[in-house]
Amino acid sequence: MNDTVKPIDFNVENIRQDFPILQREVNGKPLVYLDNAATSQTPKQVIDVIVDYYSNYNANIHRGVHTLSQEATDLYEQARIKIQNHFNIEKSYEVILTSGTTHGINLVASGFASLLKKGDEIIVSALEHHSNIVPWQMLCERTGATLRVVPMDVNGQLLLEDYDQLLSEKTKLVFVNHISNALGTINPIKLMIEKAHAVGAAVLVDGAQSCPHLKPDLQALDVDFYVTSAHKICGPTGVGMLYGKEAWLTKLPPYQGGGEMIDQVSFEKTTYAGLPHKFEAGTPNICGGIAFGAALDYMNIVGFDAIATYEHSLLEYATKALSQIEGLKIYGPKDLEAKTSVVSFNIEGIHPYDIGTILDKMGIAVRTGHHCAQPIMDFFKIPGTVRASFAFYNTMEEIDALVSGVKKAKMMLS
Ligand SMILES: *Cc1c(COP(=O)(O)O)cnc(C)c1O
Repeated sequence: MNDTVKPIDFNVENIRQDFPILQREVNGKPLVYLDNAATSQTPKQVIDVIVDYYSNYNANIHRGVHTLSQEATDLYEQARIKIQNHFNIEKSYEVILTSGTTHGINLVASGFASLLKKGDEIIVSALEHHSNIVPWQMLCERTGATLRVVPMDVNGQLLLEDYDQLLSEKTKLVFVNHISNALGTINPIKLMIEKAHAVGAAVLVDGAQSCPHLKPDLQALDVDFYVTSAHKICGPTGVGMLYGKEAWLTKLPPYQGGGEMIDQVSFEKTTYAGLPHKFEAGTPNICGGIAFGAALDYMNIVGFDAIATYEHSLLEYATKALSQIEGLKIYGPKDLEAKTSVVSFNIEGIHPYDIGTILDKMGIAVRTGHHCAQPIMDFFKIPGTVRASFAFYNTMEEIDALVSGVKKAKMMLS
């Protein structure tokens, strides 16, 4: 379906017209939004779908015989097919609609509680988001399994020789993010999946940071589970997807009990619905799911090749300009081919929070702090970083504004 969508000629000024929020001012200055790794902005094509849904289709799905309910159900199920096609997933019922990445990870972690025993091992990477660490610690506490961590080097890249050493027949699960939100590192997930499968372990990949920048082919990756959030890909907050291979989703018990997820209910015994409904208890974020599909449509029209090429030019430009500021240190891969459009940095002797506060006065939105990845900050022995993360709707002029803002902040603070 998406293969027939023709990408438009990439023109950032036209693209910016699609995003109403980019026209606003903050503190009397034009907004320069460089916090895309936290959440992306929403184009009017997606906002229109949300307004249209509540104006014309709002109803509960999968239960009513009435027309509105059937129309809402059709739109929701069409969104599932869009997600299936986008990620090249074999069967539509392998797409579970969730409230986001965190929900998907917890669903899998809770399901594995019934499959693990003492002595089993779970491997996570040193580059993980908190949402990808805490559920595994909780799972280990419940089952007696042991958590192992793949370390990274000073450039924020995983040490694969150490990964090889950690893998054994005790390994039941490997969890790694496709791309690190704190540093932008692209992890070699295809190789990591192959190595895990060689010892019989399953792999869950956190795709929250990869989906805005590239179009993963989940069958080619042969990944067992993949999770992402719509709000990182120009969709709304509070909706996302979990992909699981049918065999795994069949093996895992339901996560939550409620409406939608049952087949027959009596007080003696309840039987569960088939996939995907077994994992979709309760009324879902119907409008969000439909808007998620619309966001994928939008991204495909812009075109992922054009997005990747353009964002890389933003990354090169920003890295070069920021590196010229004395005392400024950038964390993450030196090789720009090994990362996405994220620049995580500090200026010697200045707290990242102070830089972020001054930039905000100039209308520039960046993230400061540990980016939900405290172990990475501990590794570098820093309290946090300033993170500028670029999207395809950012411009070279916005990077110029960032660079002069950082210079000004440095002057004021040192
Ligand atoms: C944003 C993000 C998450 C959390 O996503 P939610 O939508 O808050 O559940 C998890 N992992 C990574 C890598 C992220 O960037």
